[in-house]
Amino acid sequence: LTDLEIRYLFEEFIGRAEKKGATRIEDLRNLLKKVPTDPQELPITFGGRTSCYEIIHNDKSVFIDMGTGISAVPPVAGKGIHEFTVFLTHMHWDHIMGMPFFVPIYAPDTRLTIYHVHPHTPEAVAIQFNGINFPVKWDVISPRIQFKQLSLYQTLTIHGMQVTPFQLDHPGGSYGYRFNAGGKSIVIGVDSEYKRLTPDELGKDLKYYQDLDWLVFDAQYEMHELASKYDWGHSSPSIGVDLALREGIKNLVLTHHDFQSSEECEESMLCNARNYLKTQLPAYQEIWDKLGMSQGPNIIAGYDGLQIDL
Ligand SMILES: [Zn+2]
Ligand SMILES: [Zn+2]
Repeated sequence: LTDLEIRYLFEEFIGRAEKKGATRIEDLRNLLKKVPTDPQELPITFGGRTSCYEIIHNDKSVFIDMGTGISAVPPVAGKGIHEFTVFLTHMHWDHIMGMPFFVPIYAPDTRLTIYHVHPHTPEAVAIQFNGINFPVKWDVISPRIQFKQLSLYQTLTIHGMQVTPFQLDHPGGSYGYRFNAGGKSIVIGVDSEYKRLTPDELGKDLKYYQDLDWLVFDAQYEMHELASKYDWGHSSPSIGVDLALREGIKNLVLTHHDFQSSEECEESMLCNARNYLKTQLPAYQEIWDKLGMSQGPNIIAGYDGLQIDL
C-alpha cells in the first residue's frame, strides 16, 4: 500500500469506528480485534490479491485459480497435507501468478493436480518457470504436478463435491465451475463479461445459474465504464443483479475488483448494486416471494480473506 492509501484506510477506519460510538483509543483497539464474521460487514480494506478461491467440504478443499491469493494460504508444513487440487478458469496472469509463491510446490512429497478445460493450460502454466520470469525452473517442480484435462460440462466428483465446468465469456476463453455438495451450490463465474445473458444466448450454460445458492460474479466495472471496455472480458454489478433476480440466485458476491480502483469506489459500487436491486426487484417479486426472500438476493462484496459458510 502507498502512503496515501494507508492514510485513507486510517481515516476510513476511524470514520467507521466513530459511527460505532468509539471515543477512546481503547475502543479503536477493540474494533481492530473484531474480524468481520458476517459477510455483509465490510472489511477495513478489500485488499489487492488476485483471484484464488478455496472451497472446503468435509475437511478437504480445492482451489479455484492460483492468483496471488494462493500465497496467503496458511503454511501446511507439518500438518500432513501433501495433496492439493486446483481448478483453473483460464491462464491470464492474475489467475496463475501466485503459483511460484505457493510454498508447498517446493516440498518433494507434494502432489498438485491441476484440472483445466483450456487445452493449452500445461504450457501456459509452465512458462512462468522458464528461468527468466522466475528463478525456479519447471523441471524442478514438474514431477509434483499433474494436469488433468476436463471436457466442458463434464461432471467430476471430488472430496464428495460435484464439480462441472461451463463456458464463460472472456477473451482467450474462460471456464466457470459449479460446485454442488450437501444440498448447497456455488458458482465461480470469474472472469467473464457476461455478454450472453438471455436464456437463449446462455443456452447450455443457463442451467448452471439456476437453483443456485451463491454466484461469485465478475463485477469489475460500473455499467457506464463497460462501453469503453467492450471485449475486455469483465462485467458489471448491475448485470449480476439482473441475472440473480431473473434466475433466483440467492446470494451474489461481487468481485474481480479493478486494480486501479479504491476502497471508496468499491464501497460505492456495492451500494449502487444494492440500490439497483431495489429498483428492479418489483418486476421479479413473485419469484422472490416464492423463495421466501421478499427482499431479493443478498449482495456482498468480495475481499481478501472473506469466508462464507454456505
Ligand atoms: Zn482474465
Ligand atoms: Zn482475471
